[in-house]
Amino acid sequence: AKSEGRGQYRVFVPSMRDDLLRRQRLMNDLRGAIRRNELFLLFQPIVCTVSGNTSGFEALLRWHHPELDLVPPSEFIDLAEKSGQIEAIGAWVIEQACRAAAQWPEDLFISVNVSARQLTDMSLIAVVTDSIAAHAVNPRRLVIEITESTLIDNDTSALSVLHALKRLGCRIALDDFGTGYASLSYLRRFPFDKLKIDQSFLRQIGDKNSDSAKIVRAIGDLGRQMDLLVVAEGVETQEQLDLVREAGSVLGQGYLFDRPLTLDAARHRVARERGL
Ligand code: C2E
Ligand code: CA
Ligand code: CA
Ligand code: CA
Repeated sequence: AKSEGRGQYRVFVPSMRDDLLRRQRLMNDLRGAIRRNELFLLFQPIVCTVSGNTSGFEALLRWHHPELDLVPPSEFIDLAEKSGQIEAIGAWVIEQACRAAAQWPEDLFISVNVSARQLTDMSLIAVVTDSIAAHAVNPRRLVIEITESTLIDNDTSALSVLHALKRLGCRIALDDFGTGYASLSYLRRFPFDKLKIDQSFLRQIGDKNSDSAKIVRAIGDLGRQMDLLVVAEGVETQEQLDLVREAGSVLGQGYLFDRPLTLDAARHRVARERGL
């Protein structure tokens, strides 16, 4: 029978091989994806939890593969890091994000995700400087989102890159807050402006046996004490919105407000909101 002995073995091996083949293929095809215009950004609104108005957008990378269709970032970002392509892709993301921000009202920020390897040398500073200059974007509007794991990988160089970004006038957000093991000590060491509460906390809120609601409130307190803007990620229900608002989380992001949008849809959202 298939469920025992060799049968199981035969079922297992091909799927691992397929997985490996797919990864190798993606890694190869990613080379040239920018040139072939296969990458694009979506923009998810980050909304004031009190007024409901858009405060800014997070740029989220997408890859439209000619044969495999839409490949999610969870599948190719780490491949881009391993194969040394993340610098070029990351630079493209920042340039496109600034291009988009130039088309929105001045008071809206634009958040971009930056991975570990982009924080290992000062070339990121040149990329940011060039992009904000090329599109005449006020550096204060640019928010660099980094995760804790980014910092663990390369502490000292990351620290100097982050300070250089701050000197340019950009702001820094700590993404997926609460999922790492050193969150609190990082708050002391790095110059953050925002904390993004990881979606996993909101997801468990309905669950009676979970302390997630207490943790969300505690992060809200922490943000107030440390003068950090708190963003709640993954807001999908009214119940979650009520909690994050009560916890003092000023900004929210999630399907309750909007999905990641095309540039056109993002522009329409802002125009509609402002009666333009
Ligand atoms: P992230 O930075 O934590 O981004 C938030 C993710 O949550 C996005 O997934 C977004 O589409 C999704 N999301 C937003 N609202 C909701 C919600 O209400 N419910 C649920 N279930 N999900 C929601 P996405 O776009 O697939 O991106 C996944 C991750 O890929 C990002 O996580 C980020 O770590 C990485 N990523 C995306 N774009 C870039 C990029 O340009 N550069 C780098 N280095 N990483 C990127
Ligand atoms: Ca993010
Ligand atoms: Ca996140
Ligand atoms: Ca995440």
